[in-house]
Amino acid sequence: MKVLKFGGTSVADAKTIQSVKKIVSENLEREKKILVVSALAGITDLLINLAKKASDQDETYTKELLLIENRHLEVIQALLPITNQSETLSYVKKHINSLETLLEGAYLIGEITPKLSDKIMSYGELLSSFIINEYFCSQSINSTYKDARTLIKTNESYKNAIVDFTATNTLCEEYFKASEHDVVIIPGFVASSDKGNSTTLGRGGSDYTAAIVAAAINAETLEIWTDVSGMYTANPKIVKQAFSIPNISYHEAMELSHFGAKVLYPPTIQPVLDKEIPILIKNTFAPQDTGTLIATQTTVGTKAVRGISHIENIGLISLEGPGMIGTYGVSKRFFEILSQAKINIVLITQASSEHSICIGIAESDLINAKALIDEAFTYEISLGNLKPVSMEKNLAVIAVVGDNMKSHQGLSGKMFSALGKNNVNVRAIAQGASERNISAVINK
Ligand code: ASP
Repeated sequence: MKVLKFGGTSVADAKTIQSVKKIVSENLEREKKILVVSALAGITDLLINLAKKASDQDETYTKELLLIENRHLEVIQALLPITNQSETLSYVKKHINSLETLLEGAYLIGEITPKLSDKIMSYGELLSSFIINEYFCSQSINSTYKDARTLIKTNESYKNAIVDFTATNTLCEEYFKASEHDVVIIPGFVASSDKGNSTTLGRGGSDYTAAIVAAAINAETLEIWTDVSGMYTANPKIVKQAFSIPNISYHEAMELSHFGAKVLYPPTIQPVLDKEIPILIKNTFAPQDTGTLIATQTTVGTKAVRGISHIENIGLISLEGPGMIGTYGVSKRFFEILSQAKINIVLITQASSEHSICIGIAESDLINAKALIDEAFTYEISLGNLKPVSMEKNLAVIAVVGDNMKSHQGLSGKMFSALGKNNVNVRAIAQGASERNISAVINK
């Protein structure tokens, strides 16, 4: 069995869904397929936006709801034969009505809880997957729809729920063993808690859904169908010499996906890596392109640097002062404060002088992080042992990635001399002992 995931742009409208059908129909007589689909392109953003508007008591949310409804109705009208439309149209209308009730609740209270927000966000995938299945059935594909909330179980950390793999694996194994359909279509991104509440797996989480299912059933491969022909050596929108990497190891892919190579949601790799299930990244709009194969592989003979990646909108926070030298516990407290505030750390450096710790975080977290750290170290700051936190914004991280970098000398020299020759000032540097990634913080 194969698991195929189609992202938002692959299911943006009737035309792209027809391309998906063409891809899925191939070899169906020989192998069964599980399809995980995203919401129609842009719908999750619209849902987030309209939930915010409703909770801000901005009445215009109703207009956006209409927009969402119309996008889905248009797709149905374009894809399904008239005689088959009514059931699917009324399914969508029924769901839009429930969504409206939820939004009305948020509007009246003027507030939205994470639990309600997840419920609202789940509608994008619930509708797209249902419609695509109806279309497949109308095209004589032996296909069925299965709600992911009955397969994937999580805790109740809304917006980024943690998967209960034991329960999920059992449910998936049982269901797919008994399934006799050629195609099973599942909404990505959504799951449910053991109390039955809808949860979501983080933005971009449909990739993760597909990986969870692939690992649970020991799929032969996991295919991620998107709108680019694989993982690129750098962002092709910025670097014109960038090209698609034909094959790459799990670890390299993980490094590149963490660093903003948007084709893969980073948590996706772990479940399939454990089972060594290959991931193939393919382009829905150029299926003839080879794409990128992510698998276990030796690095012998491969190029040292596999890709150059970057993250924009980074801010630096530095904590420094004589009070850091030779004392313990300062960094523990520093990181604890950030973790309690759920602030994600992108990069860490501390030089051997121990005089300062410097971290890279999202620019949007800077002010909050500074306030919390200054407050926690008020006593040390008043004694002059530490200085108030300094922060800088408008930065970016650029990283050179490759499994094989560890056996090469001179790569960091080459990287930094390229930056230096081009008058790019390096603000901070990080390289782990795995030598798989050399990161530099530079001006955005
Ligand atoms: N629709 C969700 C999002 O936009 C999940 C996904 O497409 O992977 O984040």
